[in-house]
Amino acid sequence: MRQYYIAGNWKMNKTKSEAVELAKSLVSALKDGKNKYMIAPSFTNLDAVAQVVKGTNIRLGAQNMSTDESGAHTGEVSVLMLKDLGVQTVILGHSERRHIYKEDDAMINTKVKLALKHGLEVILCIGELLEEREAGKAESVCEEQTRKGLSGVSAEDMKNIVIAYEPVWAIGTGKTATPEDAQAVHAFTRKILTDMYGSSVAENVIIQYGGSMKADNAQALLNQKDIDGGLIGGAALKADTFEPICKTY
Ligand code: PEP
Repeated sequence: MRQYYIAGNWKMNKTKSEAVELAKSLVSALKDGKNKYMIAPSFTNLDAVAQVVKGTNIRLGAQNMSTDESGAHTGEVSVLMLKDLGVQTVILGHSERRHIYKEDDAMINTKVKLALKHGLEVILCIGELLEEREAGKAESVCEEQTRKGLSGVSAEDMKNIVIAYEPVWAIGTGKTATPEDAQAVHAFTRKILTDMYGSSVAENVIIQYGGSMKADNAQALLNQKDIDGGLIGGAALKADTFEPICKTY
């Protein structure tokens, strides 16, 4: 059975002391929570937040990583460095990485395979732009990003893969996909995973929704059959707004 998985992507927000304070509030607020939880601070705050979440029910996530293990890659952070700090999960292919920093599916796939090789859980983000949705291409975009992002990933490694469907037009805009529209893409994505790996693997893959998820729309989204959690941006930046989403169920 799939478990609800609620993850917070803090993006480029919070100083070290602010990050530690938020992490401490969440450790206390979620200590009896029934679901799976993760927070992803910026690279510079990973070490400090790691000390706070170590041994708790909150996983430590990174927001990105390099395609390479080490070497001449100025400004990049490697999987070995993340592992050394206690990172357990990495978000890859976030729309901000795809669209602002021009990461393509091949690059994302290299990162996915490297993260899996080192035992990290991967949250692979997929999602269409507004113009792609309006052109009726939401499903084909998600299919391509899923197939290319997972190219060469074995059925065995799928236990460390989470998919986050994040329609780009809903991220940070206050616009949420309707629960029915989101469910349709989630079900479609699970169909693609079934085609790639068979139904017993596909049925166990957690597919999160992301895009202006908040306490007041979380329940309707999480009620959908194929929506197994959330990847939360804005509402993850305060314990007061993140905790109620985590405790929806
Ligand atoms: C995100 O960036 O992954 C996200 C879903 O952001 P927000 O919740 O702010 O829309």
